[in-house]
Amino acid sequence: MIWDVAEIQKPRKKDLHLDTPYNTDDAIEARGVRKIYKGLGGEPDKLALKGIDLSVPKGAIFGLLGPNGAGKSTFINILAGLVVKTEGTATVWGFDIDKNPRQARASIGVVPQELAVDFFFSPAESLEIQAGLYGVPKAERRTLDILRALGLEDKAGAYARTLSGGMKRRLLVAKAMVHNPPVLILDEPTAGVDIELRRQLWDYVVELNKQGVTVVLTTHYLEEAEALCDSIAIINHGEVVACEPTPQLLSRIDEKTLIIRPQTEISNIPDSLSELSLDLRADGQLAVHYSPSTMDMDTLLARLNDAGIRIADLTTEQSDLEDIFLQLTYSAEDRA
Ligand code: ADP
Repeated sequence: MIWDVAEIQKPRKKDLHLDTPYNTDDAIEARGVRKIYKGLGGEPDKLALKGIDLSVPKGAIFGLLGPNGAGKSTFINILAGLVVKTEGTATVWGFDIDKNPRQARASIGVVPQELAVDFFFSPAESLEIQAGLYGVPKAERRTLDILRALGLEDKAGAYARTLSGGMKRRLLVAKAMVHNPPVLILDEPTAGVDIELRRQLWDYVVELNKQGVTVVLTTHYLEEAEALCDSIAIINHGEVVACEPTPQLLSRIDEKTLIIRPQTEISNIPDSLSELSLDLRADGQLAVHYSPSTMDMDTLLARLNDAGIRIADLTTEQSDLEDIFLQLTYSAEDRA
């Protein structure tokens, strides 16, 4: 095992003088975090975060979702010590980012959005440099272990420019892990990465998580958040509009689709069903979209039966996060 959970969760010796309690169950805790970017040269100020309250439990794979400009990067950059918040409090692994900035920063590894790898250094050299920046003593560096964990061992001495896109992405994850942070943040990690490489990257992320690393990923790819994350927070216009375990979030949507295979082929949708939302699909199946809160399944089936449709088979289609996302962001805009 490369990242020993016990080791990750233990404060390092040099951190033991801390005045911050180490007993929180949350890897990240934010309370009322606001950010106003001051407008330059007559530009108006920009309220990027309106007061974020968020808790990311230790051990989670947590999705931070939201459209472009929602405030995701601002939030993670505040946690990583790269952007100064205007108001509020935040802790990373129990360390207050204002009172214990060094320890808070040491607890977090950020995999940046862009594929910026050092052109002239081999992966091993890049990791050594990064470890140096974080003040990891030579004796504690685990360059080859990290490269092995990310499937880059045989590229340790290669020129960075010879790495494929997927390898570069993994090298960025490796760099974020050199100081053994218990929290790993991936900022839009799959933007511009093809599906195969995305899958590979997820496998590594899941593996790191199994070894005890808390993972936060920001994305606007909903399907990945849905597949990977235990909990999801949705941010829109600098506000958290939802934060729930993934299954709970999925169950909130008030739109379901019932797929029916009729016993005999239907050429037209019967007039008596015209006020229902129906599609006749090319494969002969009938898709019925309905809101469970206003129509129960019994009523729906009775209506179909009355219209002379005999059912050979039926399934329901899961609503996905895309729908929830639209619903939630729409209602947030409505409120504004
Ligand atoms: P996301 O990561 O969700 O796309 P960002 O955190 O990058 O969102 O941006 C949130 C809002 O803050 C956007 O309106 C963006 O234009 C604005 N913003 C981000 N960085 C700056 C900056 N350095 N100066 C001024 N405004 C900024």
